[in-house]
Amino acid sequence: MNKALRPRWILPGLAIVLLSLSACQSEEVLSRQSFVFGTLVEVKIRTSDRDQAIDAINTLFSRFDKLHSNWHAWKPGAMTDTSAKLSQGEWFTPAASITPVLEYSQQLYRDSRGLFNPAMGRLVALWGFHADTLPDKPPEKSAIDSILLDLPGMDDIEFNNGRVRGHHPHIVIDAGGMAKGYAVNMGIELLRRHGISNALLNAGGDLCGIGSRGDRAWRVGIRHPNRQGVLASIDLSDGECVFTSGDYERGYDYENHHYHHIIDPRTGYPADGAVSVTVLHPNGALADAASTALLVAGVDGWQEIAESMNIDKVLLVDHQGRLHMTAGMQKRVVIRDNPPQEIIIAPQI
Ligand code: ADP
Ligand code: MG
Repeated sequence: MNKALRPRWILPGLAIVLLSLSACQSEEVLSRQSFVFGTLVEVKIRTSDRDQAIDAINTLFSRFDKLHSNWHAWKPGAMTDTSAKLSQGEWFTPAASITPVLEYSQQLYRDSRGLFNPAMGRLVALWGFHADTLPDKPPEKSAIDSILLDLPGMDDIEFNNGRVRGHHPHIVIDAGGMAKGYAVNMGIELLRRHGISNALLNAGGDLCGIGSRGDRAWRVGIRHPNRQGVLASIDLSDGECVFTSGDYERGYDYENHHYHHIIDPRTGYPADGAVSVTVLHPNGALADAASTALLVAGVDGWQEIAESMNIDKVLLVDHQGRLHMTAGMQKRVVIRDNPPQEIIIAPQI
């Protein structure tokens, strides 16, 4: 190097090193919470720019509030309007936040072979889940059977250039099985647009993370389905999401039986083939829908549906407490159950 140049480079170089050191020193993990989508949503952001992070969080929560009222399955809004018009059978243009959700739901419905079915809101409502207060007893079998005789599916919806048309008089859209995942995907995009590259967005235990917590990855716990405490933990890679569906989430008891909110479209009754399913995937909406669909598929059918939905990281807890997982999930998960339960690795996936 030309010796004469050296002094001119040393000072600015030193300034850059000092500046980045001070940026590192003032880094913090900011955390904010809000009650949306019927659950406590928490965002954590690792940042050295507090104002930028707070601005992003405020925008995020006001966007979530809007999505929550737009997508609500039974409180009057864009989604209930959409359901009403779909059942009339005329072409119409839904609100802008609705059409992409419907289109993606149709794909998920097909990929899950109908087990993920957001068009059967009428059945979910019959079970009493379209209300803030749950009923004290299940519906009559005859009422369930009469809906099952001609259950609407997402294939009863036709799309054409942003317009949609329903082909079933009883379509009621209930996007609750993937709305959180879809929203968390949008939330992560929004944070990235605001210049945030290290964040964890957690909607009641269902979450996506970007970047890291700093010295280590974002570490997330999977709740034990049968008791207090953590079943397992996963260190997230950039952009990954973890979604869990369980039969313990929302439900009511009647005559010693628990009736929960994930309904099997084949039987019309709450799914009883597994206790909980956790899916790890970069797409939150897919992970959310898949956890619901695989819970419906149950211990006997989940592998087939995981394959058809292109999911390779799954953990399922069965009614005996055994853990079933894919090899891909086994590599990523640390089981913290004590005493440990039997683990069964899925052969095909
Ligand atoms: P949570 O919302 O507790 O995370 P899920 O993601 O599994 O749980 O979503 C459950 C919700 O999905 C139910 O409350 C209902 O609104 C809707 N739902 C129930 N059964 C199905 C199904 N088979 N397919 C699609 N959506 C469903
Ligand atoms: Mg779900």
